[in-house]
Amino acid sequence: MSRKKKKKTSKLKVWLGIIVILLLAVLGLDNRGVFTEIRNREQISRAISTIVNKDSNFKIFYFDVGQADCSLIMNNDKTMLIDAGNEEDGPLIVECLKGLGIEKIDYLIGTHAHEDHIGGLDDVISEFSIGTIYMPKVQTNTKNFEDVLNAIENKNLTIEMPVIGESFNLDDCNCTIVSANNETEDLNLSSIVLRLTYGTQSFLFMGDAEIENEEAISWDKTNVIKIGHHGSDTSTSEEFLAQIQAELAIISVGEENDYGHPNDEVLNRLKQKNVNIFRTDMDGTIILTCDGNTNTMQKLELCLDGN
Ligand SMILES: [Zn+2]
Repeated sequence: MSRKKKKKTSKLKVWLGIIVILLLAVLGLDNRGVFTEIRNREQISRAISTIVNKDSNFKIFYFDVGQADCSLIMNNDKTMLIDAGNEEDGPLIVECLKGLGIEKIDYLIGTHAHEDHIGGLDDVISEFSIGTIYMPKVQTNTKNFEDVLNAIENKNLTIEMPVIGESFNLDDCNCTIVSANNETEDLNLSSIVLRLTYGTQSFLFMGDAEIENEEAISWDKTNVIKIGHHGSDTSTSEEFLAQIQAELAIISVGEENDYGHPNDEVLNRLKQKNVNIFRTDMDGTIILTCDGNTNTMQKLELCLDGN
């Protein structure tokens, strides 16, 4: 009798298991469906056009490229791309930029030579008309980095070395290089850091700059910061946050990444300072539109992580 009962229970367990597996499979397919569907130029442009505030000429896209970085700034007909994700993300980034109607990148910034920043740059360089390219002096010997150099050479372009204090305009948005280090051999420390001002608003793009970079200069108050080094505890010190007094922070980070980014302490520091946090692993692609005085944040389920 007891044996029979046992058999019945184990049969029930098997059926429950099958139901759970089927449910997971259906949910999994749904998720993949959303992301594969949207990886098509027309669908990308349709999805973006439904969400982007048309009244604003100034937009920043903080793309969800997994554990990597890629930000696009559009101001009227001028464009700047800061980093281009991992190597596998390149074709998706190209499709997305084309979906946005972009033909020329006026300023292309490779903040530093790590693959999660320059990975897709070769695809972008090959596919678009390119204005000025900024990259730090320090190089690396990875194939990915060589691919970028080859793409630059193939189009007879040159690399501008960043100089602290140098600035340029993206239409009526001013962009200044506030941190760069062409002497160091450490790739993160060589990160190009940009500060943009548009109307009364300001925006920092930290690359993978670390506390050593933060301590090297004094920082102006800045409304919006793209957090350095994917929220690692090597960056975003309390002193630095006290100087910039940001209201909004964006963290570009992969879901369940191997590095434990973003670091809990960094998140706590931001929360203690009442900074509103957006994360690409939770919020997807984040779109900021600015009218010169106020920033509007929108989230778009658009993943350009080709891994
Ligand atoms: Zn990085």
